Amino acid sequence: MARLHDWWDGTWQPVAGCKPMGPACLNCFAAKQAATLHQQAGATRRTVPQYAGITGRKKGRYFFNGRVTALEPGHDEWKWPLRWRGAEHPLLGPGQRSLIFVVGMADLFYDRPEHLIGRTLTTIAASEHIGLILTQRPDAMAKYFARLPASVVPRWQEHLWLGFTGEKQKQFNERWAPMRDLAGRGWRTFVSIAPMLEPVTLPPDFLAFGRHIWVIVSGEQGAHEVCRDMDPQWARAVLKQCRGAGVPFFLKQMARRRPIPPDLFVRQFPEHKR
Ligand code: SF4
Repeated sequence: MARLHDWWDGTWQPVAGCKPMGPACLNCFAAKQAATLHQQAGATRRTVPQYAGITGRKKGRYFFNGRVTALEPGHDEWKWPLRWRGAEHPLLGPGQRSLIFVVGMADLFYDRPEHLIGRTLTTIAASEHIGLILTQRPDAMAKYFARLPASVVPRWQEHLWLGFTGEKQKQFNERWAPMRDLAGRGWRTFVSIAPMLEPVTLPPDFLAFGRHIWVIVSGEQGAHEVCRDMDPQWARAVLKQCRGAGVPFFLKQMARRRPIPPDLFVRQFPEHKR
């Protein structure tokens, strides 16, 4: 299921919908995909929740319009993580858990009924896999996880990795603050510097987590005309910092479909043994 440049083994989209909130959202690839899937409704894809009416288009760019939707409560797709046997060759290695990018085509923590967040996370935590939860709203995520009953935390920490988007230094710094708290309380955390829009320096209290944290870097996806470029030197500087601190680093792709320079073809994952 995963392609060469993916940092997940599978994807699962039981809910949909979002609203732009930062520089990364200008060319939201998820909105474009949601619009495309809706246009192809009933065609080929396995995971198609209600994509109708959640996107708009302006000056050639797709965007989420703020409406949120979800699969119907009885929809069989809700159980997919529980019945999926995992990837044939998991990215974490033979015999290890598979990584599922959860709600990768939206932001789970955007203004969504709490019971839908709960059902999504509870299902992943009950599965044999690891859910990757990526948000641009880590304040909301941190508040949610702070309210978890202590009895469920060990199981959830085994099955959920929590990430934030840090496309520019300002956004990285603002969002790292609530994520630092989660990392300090034992949650496996990661940052997706994507699309990387300028040089980003990882702060010392981030690097201090070493192999317990994870950095993913990516140039912007999309058509060359609208796609913002990423200087490979920006990615090299992050890689150098990660190497110095023992932080695993993953370069997903360059912007504008440029080939990845050989020295940046680095695809590391955090160590995680069952
Ligand atoms: S937060 Fe993510 S999914 Fe939502 S609009 Fe921004 S880029 Fe798109």
